Amino acid sequence: MNTTPLLSAVDLHKTFKVSTRNHTTGMLTALDQVSLHLTAGETLGIAGESGCGKSTLAKIMAGLLMPDKGNVLYKGTQLKQLGQKDQIAFRRKTQMIFQDPFSSLNPRMRVGDSISEPFKIAGMTAAIQHSELTRIMTAVGLSSEAANRFPDEFSGGQRQRIGIARALAASPEILIADEPVSSLDISIQAQIINILLQMKIDFALSMIIVSHNLLILRHISDRIIIMYLGAIVESGPASEIFRRCRHPYTEALISAIPGFRAAAASRSELLQDDLPSALSIPTGCRFHPRCRHAVELCRHNVPAMDTYGIDHTAACHLSGKLYG
Ligand code: SF4
Repeated sequence: MNTTPLLSAVDLHKTFKVSTRNHTTGMLTALDQVSLHLTAGETLGIAGESGCGKSTLAKIMAGLLMPDKGNVLYKGTQLKQLGQKDQIAFRRKTQMIFQDPFSSLNPRMRVGDSISEPFKIAGMTAAIQHSELTRIMTAVGLSSEAANRFPDEFSGGQRQRIGIARALAASPEILIADEPVSSLDISIQAQIINILLQMKIDFALSMIIVSHNLLILRHISDRIIIMYLGAIVESGPASEIFRRCRHPYTEALISAIPGFRAAAASRSELLQDDLPSALSIPTGCRFHPRCRHAVELCRHNVPAMDTYGIDHTAACHLSGKLYG
């Protein structure tokens, strides 16, 4: 049995140079020693507050951004070692869906032409292009009449359907969606999530879904990774993360969800202060300034990533004591 992950990341590190308020420059740490894997057929959810590095991670996994250090591997081969032809194939097989699909569509191009671009590149005849376009538009719930209209004639939810159709037209193996529903109304969010779940089955996809909404990730993901200030603090099967999380930050995020609030603590009690700046990552456990359980050890020593059961890991000095 081939156990090589479809896509994996090893020790990714990424910083950005930014201007600070007093006109000096600083280095913002977006990713710090991030490693993960995506198995074929799996949906991996990546969660965390805004600014935790999850969107940067998604772009690096899609090959749209280079890490400063570390590697992304596709079926065991480093992306940077792929030849030009294989690089192009990887870009086609790994498609991204963005929070704002409008920004990735040409406003002067009819929607049908935008979706059909990969068909033309593949050299399909006009008749096959037309039938493929109809098939994909129907799959995402768009009428074939919509093909003749321009992006600004559609609502946010319809544009996201167009974004998904455009990604599917490239016959991808992996779909990476960055906050695909965060700008949509709740009722439309459910429709788009259901389309993604159905497309995963119909098109045999593996998916990485980035979202700050843990409840959506619980619904759609096989495994969930929790990121905090550029690092992974916990990862595990979605059901395990909700049944028995192993990190105080995960506990705080879950407690913020209505219906999941911990009996003895409100979110404000669990999550102290605001998110620190990624320009100055705290020493020791990076979560310690906000952690109500922090002890002296946490302020100076970086916690190791410990394993708890099958594929469940967390980086907290006190996880065993706190969660058994
Ligand atoms: Fe909190 Fe310490 Fe665990 Fe960090 S290592 S999450 S500060 S208890």
